[in-house]
Amino acid sequence: MATTFKRPDKRKFDELREVEAKIGIIKRADGSAMFKFGDSVALAAVYGPRELIPKHKQDPEKALLRCHYDMISFSVTERKRPGPSRRSTEISYVTSKALEPVLQLDAFPNTVIDVFIMIIQADASTRCAGINAASMALANAGLPMTGLVSAVSVGKVAGEILTDLSKDEEDYGHDDKVKETTDIPIAYIPKLDKISLLQLDGRIKPQELKKAIEAAKKACLKINEIQTKALKQVND
Ligand code: UDP
Repeated sequence: MATTFKRPDKRKFDELREVEAKIGIIKRADGSAMFKFGDSVALAAVYGPRELIPKHKQDPEKALLRCHYDMISFSVTERKRPGPSRRSTEISYVTSKALEPVLQLDAFPNTVIDVFIMIIQADASTRCAGINAASMALANAGLPMTGLVSAVSVGKVAGEILTDLSKDEEDYGHDDKVKETTDIPIAYIPKLDKISLLQLDGRIKPQELKKAIEAAKKACLKINEIQTKALKQVND
């Protein structure tokens, strides 16, 4: 049956918002990047590897990868309370886990690699924008990596599988009690053919999930190309 659902911004179901990527945006950092999905904008800055202080936290076998995700208060329509929250702690944790598979942490024992991710404007999928920016910033810092991590949010809205959900789409058909849409942030490493993040908020049938994962992989391949191109561009 032909669908009647139309995306609010008229995109095709498998179409990304406008993507922009740039490296070397923060001079003091060892590596940095900006990644944008439409109105969701993430900045990432990498510091390290450097000696981990206090020393009792050092691991003689590998570096500690420490990700810090946050949104600025006015990045969203309703002012966000400054400072850490359960949400930012969770996103920081899953971001580290999404990035770890491409890093050779055992090459830098006793050190820490700090990755600061700041969302300066939010319109959904900010954790994915953050992972994309962080992955580029780590490469920009010159760290040995087995590949780039690319992330996108896919989901089910009005019965359709969509790529790169906007906030309007995430909220589609919600009232106070019922969540109608399903949001699935996915991070994929094309070089390793590995999914390093998959979260699922909502309900979906197994066959639809399979379709959503395929859509995410396809989008991540495009994102990977954009990230690679940005990394090759010489900084001013
Ligand atoms: N959001 C907000 N206030 C908050 C947290 C989130 O307005 O305190 C919005 C913001 O646009 C964010 C979206 O809700 O991008 C979806 O948030 P979610 O927790 O699903 O994470 P995201 O999709 O950004 O990774």
